Amino acid sequence: MTKYIVVTGGVISGVGKGVATASLGKILKEYGFSVSAIKIDPYINCDAGTMRPTEHGEVWVTEDGGEIDQDLGNYERFLEQVIPKKNNITTGQIYKSLIEKERRGEFLGETVQFIPHVPNEIKRRIKEASNNYDVVLIEVGGTIGDYENIPFLFAMKSLENELGKENVCYILVTYLPIPSHIDEMKTKPTQLAIKLLREEGIQPDFILCRGRKELDEPRKKKIEQYSNIKKENIISMPDVIGENTPNTLYVIPLNLEKEHLGEKIMERLNLKYKKIPDWTDWKNAVNSLINPSNEISIGIVGKYLSTGDYQLVDSYISINESLKHSSAKNNAKINIKWINAQDLEKSENIKEILNKVQGIIIPGGFGSSGVEGKINAIKHCRENNVPFLGLCYGLQLAVIEYARNVCELKEANTTEVNQDTIHPVIDIMPEQKDINNKGGTMRLGAYKAILQDKSKVKELYGNRDEVSERHRHRYEVNPIYHPILKDKGMVLSGMSPDKRLVEFIELPNLKFFIATQSHPEFKSSLLNPAPLFDGFVKACLIKT
Ligand code: GLN
Repeated sequence: MTKYIVVTGGVISGVGKGVATASLGKILKEYGFSVSAIKIDPYINCDAGTMRPTEHGEVWVTEDGGEIDQDLGNYERFLEQVIPKKNNITTGQIYKSLIEKERRGEFLGETVQFIPHVPNEIKRRIKEASNNYDVVLIEVGGTIGDYENIPFLFAMKSLENELGKENVCYILVTYLPIPSHIDEMKTKPTQLAIKLLREEGIQPDFILCRGRKELDEPRKKKIEQYSNIKKENIISMPDVIGENTPNTLYVIPLNLEKEHLGEKIMERLNLKYKKIPDWTDWKNAVNSLINPSNEISIGIVGKYLSTGDYQLVDSYISINESLKHSSAKNNAKINIKWINAQDLEKSENIKEILNKVQGIIIPGGFGSSGVEGKINAIKHCRENNVPFLGLCYGLQLAVIEYARNVCELKEANTTEVNQDTIHPVIDIMPEQKDINNKGGTMRLGAYKAILQDKSKVKELYGNRDEVSERHRHRYEVNPIYHPILKDKGMVLSGMSPDKRLVEFIELPNLKFFIATQSHPEFKSSLLNPAPLFDGFVKACLIKT
């Protein structure tokens, strides 16, 4: 029978529930259990596909084509297993499916009501995703006290009632602020979060206390007294990113293991470990992140960078993490320089900004803003032999740059930016032309590519003939222009099996000039870095 661990968050959003959930999953997997994780997003959107990345962070793409909250990415990276789109549950999906069932007549004669229908549908979805795993973690998005997560907390309580206390345990991840004017860690917001959770009938079994510093004994005691939770189950989880910290999230499972959280949870859920954890490889990778022997700077030219006065690099979290994975493998510290594409639109800025980095990534993107700046960055890489990795829009813009400046098609563009361009080297895919519904209709999920013999891309993928990566796009390299691009020296080093879609390109005479229509950043993990990122980082490390 599946055991459930429900993770909720208190005090503030962005407290680190996702990484805590993923880390716990990793720990339990190390103890030999089969583990999966479910993310509940209480918003009304059916998925994250239509949201703005600066508001909600990156849109994560699953193998089966879901456009999902970025936390599913944390789960996959830490658990190193594919998590399907059914593991993301939103309010929108729950109501949509209930209304569809009602219309089909599945509730004939009944009044369809919040209770029991909504919690029942939530439980049905949870059971469907649980799929006989030994342990399933359920992360309830949002913050305790939000109106919109009440139905989900109600459903969790109902699940516990149905399955028994020994099969469901609750974790609250809270934040303990240290206001600068008193310089003392305050427990009051945590006390209030516990109170709010109790109002929903939930007594947390464990409290993970996030904060700038370790939780000290007096404050542990205070929380213990307030919440009637044993001190051993109140776990300190200080920041691991920032000055004077290891500066990597991948230490978190190791830190939680030092607090014996895995054993404590197994005891609470009446589970006996199936194997002794072996952290050797994980520790080695973390050590090489903490004590790197080299250092490079890589520029990511993006557009979803700022919101008000704050930089929100969460829009590119998987790229960031993929670089970390390659950083560990190559024992090199990578300083990421976030470059606003619009700053590269004026040619006088380009050299000054780009000379500070050893390589450049152009990530995925949509629409026209910043496009010319990105094309300028690509031109700089091509002309100065600076390592370049293009991802999705990054490939399309590299093709435009090559068409304009090497193939002499000065007007070359994508029809996404200019519908009337006389050289639509990037054009909407025919099957996308008549789509009016924007949600979930791009070319999404895993697709295969056949790699060209003797290409750099094939070499990087271990000389495999065929690879599969995840996609999220509507446009393609226009097949009419394949011959001229090839004639002028661009190698189309990976094609879709029907040979119609360009999946990978490269310029063989340069140190590293590779782009892909896919998003290899969605399949990278600490112990298995994505091959293109690994090759790119290696090229950036070559001293000229
Ligand atoms: N906007 C481009 C397209 O839809 C690229 C998408 C992306 O970079 N994910 O094809």
